[in-house]
Amino acid sequence: MADVTLKNVSKVYGEDVVAVKDFNLDIRNEEFIVFVGPSGCGKSTTLRMIAGLEDITEGEIYIGDRKVNDVSAKDRDIAMVFQSYALYPHMTIYDNMAFSLKLSKVPKKEIEEKIKKASEILGLNEYLNRKPKNLSGGQRQRVALGRAIVRNPKVFLMDEPLSNLDAKLRVQTRTEITKLHQQLNTTFIYVTHDQTEAMTMGQRVVVMNKGVIQQVDTPQNIYHNPINQFVAGFIGSPRMNMLKGTVSQEGGQYKLAYGQKSMTLASSVGDKLRNKEIESQEVIFGFRPENCRLSKTDTGLFDVSVDQVEMLGSDNFNYVVTECGENIINRSASNEIYQPGDALSLLPDPDSIHIFDVESGEALSFSE
Ligand code: ADP
Repeated sequence: MADVTLKNVSKVYGEDVVAVKDFNLDIRNEEFIVFVGPSGCGKSTTLRMIAGLEDITEGEIYIGDRKVNDVSAKDRDIAMVFQSYALYPHMTIYDNMAFSLKLSKVPKKEIEEKIKKASEILGLNEYLNRKPKNLSGGQRQRVALGRAIVRNPKVFLMDEPLSNLDAKLRVQTRTEITKLHQQLNTTFIYVTHDQTEAMTMGQRVVVMNKGVIQQVDTPQNIYHNPINQFVAGFIGSPRMNMLKGTVSQEGGQYKLAYGQKSMTLASSVGDKLRNKEIESQEVIFGFRPENCRLSKTDTGLFDVSVDQVEMLGSDNFNYVVTECGENIINRSASNEIYQPGDALSLLPDPDSIHIFDVESGEALSFSE
């Protein structure tokens, strides 16, 4: 059990590949934190620096009170689980789990007890005498987790551990890992490119892009209060609708205009713009598919025609096109059914609109 602290950590490969830039983060003891971002954004490199598998170019890493920059991976009291299970194929499941403990000369009885406890937690008791090839992908990943658990590490590091599993198993194993964290009460640092995994598993989420932390917060806060256009677009599926418009002040209120039409923004959004001293300017505005309504009466910000409809059973996704030819996704209740070709009006919820600076992508509607 330990806090993990990264101070001004950077990693440069070769002369000029900046994989991670000035990374600062305090990970709390027993926290489940997820690093998420697109491929190549520096997640694995950060995790590998914490693990001691990669040198740090600049900065400091602490596990508990100990600075570990120069501590070798095996002495850091961490356990890492990878996408590839990396099990020894010729050994039984028992021996795979016992391997590192035997190397550390842990007494046989103690090894037995640790494996018994871990295999109970993971439901692996009946497979201990099998070889890895005789297990399913999900079971193999559980063995990899078991091998980490028996070492009783201070910190678990997981690098895309679910990527090799099929969709159904991924969902199941996701819940198992969350439960495991609750049972073990140990710090978990988890890397994924999948925003759904980040949202469902993390107590806090670190969104990264191009080697730089964009935002660190709870999944809910990141979803509802993204700090910039990148985070707003990366978190959420289907992604947030984003279009160009103009905001202006009129009689103490803010209006948002798109083409010939305009709407009044809720004061909760307007107040944030006022705090940033926004007068009148071109902006990118965003709203999520569930934060807009289609209607047959002409009351919206957009005249749209329905292009395609996906009925998922629980709800529907309506793909519509504005009069300027831009695409928007609307999410409607399952009994609110539209047909391709329908001409409708679409109104974003005035209190759920995000406003971004056109140049920097910074969210002008972000609340500190
Ligand atoms: P992620 O885990 O987010 O997909 P990585 O941390 O693996 O990203 O990589 C971050 C960046 O560093 C990428 O641009 C990648 O190409 C580069 N990189 C990673 N490992 C090496 C390496 N050993 N040598 C050179 N560049 C590397």
